[in-house]
Amino acid sequence: MSLPAPVLPLPQLTGVVASNGVHFLTDERLFEACGTRIAFTGRRGGVSKPPYEGLDLGTHVGDDPADVAVNRRLALEACGLSAFANELIIPNQVHSSTVLFAGEGILPLSQAAAPDCDGVICSSPGVPVLLCFADCVPVIIVAPDGCFAVVHSGRLGAAQRIAGGALEALAGARGLSPASCNVYIGPHICGNCYETGERIVQSFVQLMGPDCAVGTANLSLEAAVRHALLDAGACSERIHSCGTCTLESTDDYYSYRAEDKICGRHGAISCMLP
Ligand SMILES: [Zn+2]
Repeated sequence: MSLPAPVLPLPQLTGVVASNGVHFLTDERLFEACGTRIAFTGRRGGVSKPPYEGLDLGTHVGDDPADVAVNRRLALEACGLSAFANELIIPNQVHSSTVLFAGEGILPLSQAAAPDCDGVICSSPGVPVLLCFADCVPVIIVAPDGCFAVVHSGRLGAAQRIAGGALEALAGARGLSPASCNVYIGPHICGNCYETGERIVQSFVQLMGPDCAVGTANLSLEAAVRHALLDAGACSERIHSCGTCTLESTDDYYSYRAEDKICGRHGAISCMLP
C-alpha cells in the first residue's frame, strides 16, 4: 500500500545560480516534500550567440541547433536532471488548449517526434518535461504526490483556460483535490507592458473578470490565468507568481515583444526524481 500524499508546503520561488552558471527559480521546500524539481530558467549561463544570446532552449526560433542542444544539457545539469536527458519531453507548442499525458499522448524526444500541445502532465519518475517561453505565461502545477503539469498559456491559451484544464486533468487523474495542488507562475509579460487593444481586453473582461484589464487597451495574462485556475478549483494561497516581467527584464529573460520577435526561449522544467 502506498503512503498518503503529503500536504505540500505553500509555494515559493527562490533564485538559484548553478555551478555551471545557469540561473533558475525553484521551490526547494516542494522538492524536499515530494521529490519534484521545478525550474523556471533564465537566459544567463547559455552558449547561444546574438540575437539569441544566452540559454536559448527553443529549436524553432532560428538559433543554431547545436547551441540549443548544449543549452538544454546545461539546463538539465543545473537542475540535477542530467541522468534523465534521454527521457526529456518537449512538445510542439501551438497556442492550443491541448494537454497530453506523458507516456500516453506524448513520448520523449529521443523516441518520437513531438506532437502539438501546450500542456504536459507527467506521473512518471525520471521523465523531465520542458516547455519554452518568451513573454507567454509559464505555469507549473504540482500535485501532493509529486505528479505535475507544465503549461504554456499565451493569450489564446488563456482564453481557452488551458491552465485550469491542466489542473482539472492532473487532479482528476491522481484522485486528488485541485485545491491541494501547488501552482507556480513563471516570468511573463506584465499587464502594463502588454497592449492588445480594447476589443481583446473587453473579451477577456467579459469571459473572466474586470481585473484582466489594465487601463483600456492592456491585458493582464496573469489575471486571466488565475481566473482559469480558481474556476478549476485551485486554492488562491497555493498560486504563486514570481512577479517578473519578461519585457522589462531582457538581461535575464527573453521577450518576443521587446526583442522585435527574434529571440530565444527560456524554459519551464519539471521532473519527479525517482
Ligand atoms: Zn512589464
